[in-house]
Amino acid sequence: MTFSLTVLGSNAAVPAYNRNLSAHLLNINERFFLIDCGEGTQFQLRKYHVSYHRIKHVFISHLHGDHFFGLIGLLNSMHMLGRKEELHLYAPPMLEEILDIQFQASQTQLIYPLIFHPLRVDQPEIILEEERVLVHSFPLKHSIPTCGFVFREKNPPRKVPQARSFAYCSDTGYFEDILPNIQQVLVLYHEATFMQELAAAADEKFHSTAIEAATIAKKANAGKLLLGHFSARYDDLRPLVDEARTVFPESYAVEEGITLKIG
Ligand SMILES: [Zn+2]
Ligand SMILES: [Zn+2]
Repeated sequence: MTFSLTVLGSNAAVPAYNRNLSAHLLNINERFFLIDCGEGTQFQLRKYHVSYHRIKHVFISHLHGDHFFGLIGLLNSMHMLGRKEELHLYAPPMLEEILDIQFQASQTQLIYPLIFHPLRVDQPEIILEEERVLVHSFPLKHSIPTCGFVFREKNPPRKVPQARSFAYCSDTGYFEDILPNIQQVLVLYHEATFMQELAAAADEKFHSTAIEAATIAKKANAGKLLLGHFSARYDDLRPLVDEARTVFPESYAVEEGITLKIG
């Protein structure tokens, strides 16, 4: 069974150095889960030859623009391209109103069912359970309500004895409260907006440094750490990765368009 991640966007706030805004595509057994949808995501999907129709579930971590301004365009394109299948959207409650007003203004009546699942931003919860996958959300520490997500494989095939798992910790300050939700995850994505010299700024803006992300990975006994959501001030990401590796050697900067096999 496939369990892989393709990163479509890795920059924070604004695009820079050919890096796009947050978007991640998880493939579990050829079912596609889109996690965050920054502006430009549909172009990235096209660029990497992902059919929009294969996306069944979309997860939006929070309502800062760099994480969801690409959504209305993607939903509209699915409509224009004649989508028939349901699309499930998991997001903070206010997104439903935002989409409604956008569709009202453009007099768009979607031709496919869009099923909205409001996230609880105050406590962890199971948000999706299927035969092969279980998805939890959990609160992060950010300037507006924000959720992380963890995807865990159920009933792994015998030849893959360890259940595969992926956790996504979008924008967040250093926050040990998340540890019970992500313990022993095989691959942890954690934002690393800044280097350690800007730790005070990171704290003030509810973002993390690469070392803080690595500390979370270490305390969670994660298998591998993917760093992302880089500040536009960094062109070269190697110093960030080097800092993270002083705490957690299995740290890597995400690279857009590369598909990482999990497990
Ligand atoms: Zn962000
Ligand atoms: Zn944010």
